[in-house]
Amino acid sequence: MKARVLLVASEAVPLAKTGGLADVITSLARALRERGVDATVMIPGYPSAIEQACGLKEIGALPALPGGAGRLLHGTMSDCGVPVVLLQTAAFDRRAANPYVDHEGNEYPDNALCFGALAHAAVAICAGETALPAPHVVHANDWHAGLIPTLLKLRGIEGVGTLLTIHNLAFQGNFPMETAAALQIPPELLTPEGLEFWGKLSFLKAGLLHADRISTVSRTYANEILTPRFGHGMEGLLNAARERLLAIRNGVDLTAWDAESDTLIARPFSFADMRGKSSCKRDLQTLFQLPIDPFAPILAIGSRITHQKMADVAVASLPQVLRAHPRAQVVVLGRGDKAYEAGFRLLASQFPDRVAVHIGYDERRAHALHAGADMLLHGSRFEPFGLTPLYSMRYGTVPIASRVGGMADTIADAGLHGTPDAGANGILFDGDACEDMTRAVSRAFELYAQPVVWHALQRQAMAADFSWAEPAQQYIDAYRDIAADAAKPCFVEPVAEPVAEVAASEAATACDEPLQYMTA
Ligand code: ADP
Repeated sequence: MKARVLLVASEAVPLAKTGGLADVITSLARALRERGVDATVMIPGYPSAIEQACGLKEIGALPALPGGAGRLLHGTMSDCGVPVVLLQTAAFDRRAANPYVDHEGNEYPDNALCFGALAHAAVAICAGETALPAPHVVHANDWHAGLIPTLLKLRGIEGVGTLLTIHNLAFQGNFPMETAAALQIPPELLTPEGLEFWGKLSFLKAGLLHADRISTVSRTYANEILTPRFGHGMEGLLNAARERLLAIRNGVDLTAWDAESDTLIARPFSFADMRGKSSCKRDLQTLFQLPIDPFAPILAIGSRITHQKMADVAVASLPQVLRAHPRAQVVVLGRGDKAYEAGFRLLASQFPDRVAVHIGYDERRAHALHAGADMLLHGSRFEPFGLTPLYSMRYGTVPIASRVGGMADTIADAGLHGTPDAGANGILFDGDACEDMTRAVSRAFELYAQPVVWHALQRQAMAADFSWAEPAQQYIDAYRDIAADAAKPCFVEPVAEPVAEVAASEAATACDEPLQYMTA
């Protein structure tokens, strides 16, 4: 019998996307299915998702979800045929392009109820209350699905194991305690040993406490989140859960991001024949209304425009970069905090022929940017994995990135002096001061001025293999172990694990010890 896995998340391409999570969910599901796992994706039934999914049929009516009634629709993803379950509710019906925040960037006040409903609906599937067979494992992703392990335990549902993957620990789903009743969480769970986190009810903490295994998306991030600097207050809990913590890196969808077959770029190319990249540069300059100049080095930023992504540092550093490199052009694509967006807009008005900014979310422009730029600037204060630099590398666009999280694992730095190492494929920098970023960009420009060295960096970048083959197998191994454990009788009473108070020094020591990693 095929292993059945239900991947529950808040977004999945092409149905809904605000960031890397959406890419990962669908491409992981596809990779799992290619390897014989019966993987189904479950996300909210936002209008965009309902519009784009194929062959939707109702598989269950759920009259008593938090926030009201809902119904489950089953169909497939329009482009890749991955089966999908959508939870349609009146609240999700009203969610627009960004499902978490309104036009002003404020979180929707009913997020707790909406995503609590998603968890309850997933548990209804596990309980056999819908036309879909119960999965062997529920793979819950981020806080949006964080309540699932707790609800399974509360309902005493046996035989379904759980994996919680942390894609970004900064987002925790912490809500007022008063929401607990509507979420059908009993008061005895609302303690510091339970779901309470600094006076709030935390969806992510619930998942961390009760999931059979926890994983995160890169080896370095798995170690970082055990420390106060990166743990966002959950480092104690995570240290206590180390035995259950795995690191499984993300993979890249090699078909969607492929210089040789990408239909969203001006002309395909490969390392053996880079002529198409010049056409892509021209296309990028045209799209962003910059002067057409084949010799202008293009530095691109394509990401959420937020404090995490060091948008503030980029806004402060770029004037220096532009003055130091008078031929350089800068292209920015992104959306996020209004103040940083304004900072980039101001820069474009100060350097009108050299800086172009598109505030918005645009897949075509994202592909054009990765293909047409020479360098991608991707500063991050923390980065669980960092898909964007890997996408740029697929097009010979060399990343300049912070040495944190997944980027520390996937990007090999060119080094500070002389000829870069043979394996180098980018530039890494430490720190979040303006000079840290400016120095790293200058280093990139020095390398760019040496065509042989630059081509070697491009070759390594384009040759890097971050396919799903290895991580998909690691997930399969994890599911197998989880399912085997879940076959044993499960706890009816929730089991709260003690929260270890980890002092900074202890956490640093703990972090130095390697975690137990999955092997293929
Ligand atoms: P994160 O998930 O933290 O946002 P990642 O780099 O892992 O960071 O993934 C970001 C994903 O979102 C990539 O697929 C990237 O191309 C996409 N993306 C971010 N901003 C935009 C935008 N404005 N337009 C199009 N795609 C975007």
